[in-house]
Amino acid sequence: MTIQQKITSLRDELREHNHNYYVLDNPTISDYEFDVKLKELQKLEEENPEFYDETSPTLRVGGAVTKNFETIQHEHRMYSLDNSYSKDDLEDWEKRIQRILGDVPVEYTCELKYDGASISLTYEDGKLVRAVTRGDGYQGDDVTTNIKTIKSVPLQLKGDYPPKFDIRGEIILTLEGFAKMNQERIANGEEPYMNPRNTASGSLKLQDSALVAERPLECLLYSIVGKNLEITSQFEMLDKARSWGFKVPTVAKHCKTTNEVMQFVEHWDVHRHDLPYETDGVVIKVNSLRYQEELGYTAKAPRWAMAYKFKAEQVSTVLNEITYQVGRTGAITPVANLEPVLLAGTTVKRASLHNADQIEKLDIREGDTVFVEKGGEIIPKIIAVDLGKRPEGSHPTQYIQHCPECETELIRKEGEAQHFCPNDTGCPTQITGRIQHFISRKAMDIEGMGSETVELLFKEGLIANYADLYVLTKEQVMPLERMAEKSAENLVNGVEASKTIPFERVLFALGIRYVGETVAKKLAKAYKNIDALKAASEEELVSVDEIGGRIAESVVQFFANPTNVKIVERLKSYGLQFSLSEEQLENQSDKLKGQTFVVSGVFETIGRTELKKLIEDNGGKVSSSISSKTSFLVAGANMGPSKKTKAEGLGVPIISEQEFLKML
Ligand code: AMP
Ligand code: ZN
Repeated sequence: MTIQQKITSLRDELREHNHNYYVLDNPTISDYEFDVKLKELQKLEEENPEFYDETSPTLRVGGAVTKNFETIQHEHRMYSLDNSYSKDDLEDWEKRIQRILGDVPVEYTCELKYDGASISLTYEDGKLVRAVTRGDGYQGDDVTTNIKTIKSVPLQLKGDYPPKFDIRGEIILTLEGFAKMNQERIANGEEPYMNPRNTASGSLKLQDSALVAERPLECLLYSIVGKNLEITSQFEMLDKARSWGFKVPTVAKHCKTTNEVMQFVEHWDVHRHDLPYETDGVVIKVNSLRYQEELGYTAKAPRWAMAYKFKAEQVSTVLNEITYQVGRTGAITPVANLEPVLLAGTTVKRASLHNADQIEKLDIREGDTVFVEKGGEIIPKIIAVDLGKRPEGSHPTQYIQHCPECETELIRKEGEAQHFCPNDTGCPTQITGRIQHFISRKAMDIEGMGSETVELLFKEGLIANYADLYVLTKEQVMPLERMAEKSAENLVNGVEASKTIPFERVLFALGIRYVGETVAKKLAKAYKNIDALKAASEEELVSVDEIGGRIAESVVQFFANPTNVKIVERLKSYGLQFSLSEEQLENQSDKLKGQTFVVSGVFETIGRTELKKLIEDNGGKVSSSISSKTSFLVAGANMGPSKKTKAEGLGVPIISEQEFLKML
């Protein structure tokens, strides 16, 4: 087999596995096996850039950055849908249709209305060439780079697809994926997202496609438009799209009468809560495409389609009290404590109020009767106040000015929705919250200790910060509630064992705001030890790949606080890991510090990935395009001629692989 054949066969194989996993939800190999094959392909492609293919499965990880999304005219306009809310509405619609078509029997295809962001994908010769948002229906934004990272969007089709067509669908986040994203955000001290739909649509406009790739987005398709498609019905269209590799939900049903349509609607009105994603209704379409054409469009929507909107599940209840929670980063979250009420199958006692603006906007007051709705959010939300039931003498809500836990005056930074308690080293909830984060599984992973133990130890005055954990003795712990000799011993041993946890996790455990797992890894790698990190200025920090201004500011603030510095010094004295290990350091140096490299072409003794890693491990930066800031262009065989011209034009020195290796 030639290298080219090997690459092609790996690409085909990985496409098939992507399809099995993301479209059919039926993987046939393990994630590990998939990764091994993907890495193999990545390596071959890097070593043989002449076989580049824009549809390669390796491009799914993203990386390309879009600064400005280009506006693109839709070749076929993207319409809206008319809405209906009852069987009567549907029967009226059917009458209107039959007036146009004459008295012929009309059949329908019923689909769910997926609640996300609309997208139009253009395929030519089986390849995805463009993805455009709906925009105003006539023109939208080119978000191709981001859409390519969504694994259920095929980059290369299979089967008997037409040479050119557009296909429409909806980009969604599953409820599970959305919940996971929010858990991570909360763990990193960030505000959770409000709902899956807005988050999905916001994802499409992220500049960094690598971030899009990390989000569990899916694309559900429902309509093909184009010329000479040789398809005769909506239902057949869905089947066809499925056979070419698209994700088309199989819940769609071919219905012969409006009665059958109503059965479909009633079924999903109840069972929608069992779906992995959100739906806000059903879309009913005239099945015959010939009839669709005859019916045509109004100014805004097709005459041949109708959305049937489910009633959002809503109840009204009394808001007894507004309370305020303090998170481990000091963020204040207002909570509505409700008179318990049944909603969408669960008893609801609390609703999220988000922040002060939200309370003010809806003028929510204690004692009000409020309407509560359950959308995709984890906790239900208040959507309005029943003003008719407002008790006499009620006063607008005064948002708290002081921390409910420590009385410190709250602050609110410009541009931020949330209030904060700035007393991060004295506020009890923040202290226990931080210690709980410190001991958590992804951080120091201290065995024999849970959140309740932390609260207990704090209450008993045995710990006031996470450094105190390291001087706890068995004798101190044993007399505590629910502790015995064995559990006390486990706890002390667990603390001791955590001293071998590597630097990047210790850094994450410190609980610096915005320093999540990934950021901690980046910082550990860039600075190698805590003293170097502590000495870094904001400007230096933002020059580290993927470290933004917000993170930089937060890191600097953390080390500007003498209490934090003292705690870190103590942890150091107890023997925790505050620098990269010998092994991690072995292959690293500062030799290329301050220099930026562009790598191009094929190399003899070393792979491209390896070469880039060498640059980064030695303190250099890798960039993908040549500019006046480029220090060197490392050139291999078959380097792109445009890169060479550009480098020469800007006076960027061009060096060979051997010359580069000598620099180390
Ligand atoms: P609206 O935005 O309420 O006017 O509804 C129209 C939108 O519903 C379309 O732009 C589509 O993006 C979306 N939609 C979701 N599911 C479907 C579906 N199965 N068929 C057609 N449109 C759908
Ligand atoms: Zn406080």
